[in-house]
Amino acid sequence: MRLAEQSYRGRFAPSPTGPLHFGSLVAAMGSYLDAKFHNGKWLVRIEDVDCQRAMPGAVSEILTVLESFGFEWDEEVVYQSRRSDAYRYALSVLEQRNRIYPCACSRKEIADSSIRGLGGLIYPGTCRDHPPRGKESYAMRIRVTDEIILFHDRIKGSYSQKLSSDIGDFVLRRADGIFSYQLAVVTDDALQNITHVVRGADLLDSTPRQIFLQRLLGFPTPHYLHLPVVTNAFGEKLSKQTNAAPIQVENALPQLIKSLQFLGQPTPVEMMEGDIASFWQWAQQNWRVHRVPSS
Ligand code: GLU
Repeated sequence: MRLAEQSYRGRFAPSPTGPLHFGSLVAAMGSYLDAKFHNGKWLVRIEDVDCQRAMPGAVSEILTVLESFGFEWDEEVVYQSRRSDAYRYALSVLEQRNRIYPCACSRKEIADSSIRGLGGLIYPGTCRDHPPRGKESYAMRIRVTDEIILFHDRIKGSYSQKLSSDIGDFVLRRADGIFSYQLAVVTDDALQNITHVVRGADLLDSTPRQIFLQRLLGFPTPHYLHLPVVTNAFGEKLSKQTNAAPIQVENALPQLIKSLQFLGQPTPVEMMEGDIASFWQWAQQNWRVHRVPSS
């Protein structure tokens, strides 16, 4: 399937582990403007696949902020927590193709015998060669290959990984039954016909894993654009863990302007006197990807 011939479908996929912070606003805005500039559709998907990490009330807070900031999504919001059947199906396809295996190693066993890769510890492959016996709960891992996975990011250019030495066999379903982010995002992007993924560069190193899964599952690979990550004064990525300040529903316009500036787009002084609708109209018409800083 040639993506260029399809109409653009983008998405913003927040995890409701806390309220939106400035970094999430930048990701929402980048994905929204790129979709709207291309006359595309923009979808919101709540990534609550890991229900243990979801914070009560965060979903409605996130949607309220998006709405009051003037974001308009084109289809009903999708919740990963309601899509287990789709993930189970994707996993069963990989199982039929003999690409996954059960793993009963504990965190400690893995920590004791692994080396560090790009996405954390590289699983040493213990259960790949010696299937676990007699354990009740086990994770499901995918067997990666030596193939080099290369893709072109619209901002960052070429990026490649050899999953066997950079990442290792990764988990698709945890021992507690929760499907992994990688499996969920690949399944959802495909089933929602997402053609363009615009998200933070903290996910750049997840993209080869996702492309690997897409190929095994026969899904098309979307176009990728990884936006610069917003950091705090200590150089840490804004997140709940680094105590990023939540976006305030009040005073949307200055926060929108700040986010547009972060994305390297011009912000004429008159913008401040206008309203949210005129902000978006101007920002959509004048969006240029080449102005987004690469880091
Ligand atoms: N849910 C992820 C996050 O909040 C984003 C996933 C994605 O855009 O692929 O960081």
